[in-house]
Amino acid sequence: MVYSKTGRDVMIKSISKILNDSMETFLPRICTGCESRLSNDELVICNDCLNDLVQVDEAAIKEEYDNQFREFGFVKDIFSLFRFEKGESIQKIIFSIKYGRRFKTAKYLGELLGEGILQNRESWEYSFIIPIPLHKVRLSERGFNQSEYIATGVKTVTGIAIDNSIIKRVKYTETQTKKHKTERIDNMKNAFGIIKKENINGKSVLLVDDVITTGSTINAVADVLMKNGAKNIFVASVALA
Ligand SMILES: [Zn+2]
Repeated sequence: MVYSKTGRDVMIKSISKILNDSMETFLPRICTGCESRLSNDELVICNDCLNDLVQVDEAAIKEEYDNQFREFGFVKDIFSLFRFEKGESIQKIIFSIKYGRRFKTAKYLGELLGEGILQNRESWEYSFIIPIPLHKVRLSERGFNQSEYIATGVKTVTGIAIDNSIIKRVKYTETQTKKHKTERIDNMKNAFGIIKKENINGKSVLLVDDVITTGSTINAVADVLMKNGAKNIFVASVALA
């Protein structure tokens, strides 16, 4: 199938974005975690659910880095906020920002992530933020990329711009979670392609994702960026599985 970015596609995309964004303003204010009504002082997640979230400590972040990233050498450092636990609030929240159009929640979590980065990763220097891209087909199925909304929150806090003009997902991949490590790496081969090489050459980047699960998607993106002259790749996610 051949896709072309015609004016019509762009228009439909922007209209649906406006509708999505405005629809949320008319919905009753309910917690993204437990769907209870929010009180006036609660933003998008109720205080009970916020208290349920377990922060990831530095030892766990280091362990994740050692297990998923160190051997490849594409990613310089990672940071994450919460431990992803099945059956807990965090799973419901991540699910809702991925499939339930909870854009405000995604942005709010991005702001928390941005604050976490400023407090815990002062040494990170990067020129722009790149949300992990979705393939066009998945993007049109889902209608949005949740990582882009998270990245918007990170941008609000850090003041660093988002750049979606550098890398795109060129291969539609099956879900990775049931595959073995080598299969996952094979599956991600040639999944991403560079759009504008001149924009990445010599630059450091912050990649933003919702959850770091196996690291194979992030390593594939970082691999392509490094091969095209990136200086350093940092990675931040809302949750760590
Ligand atoms: Zn709640």
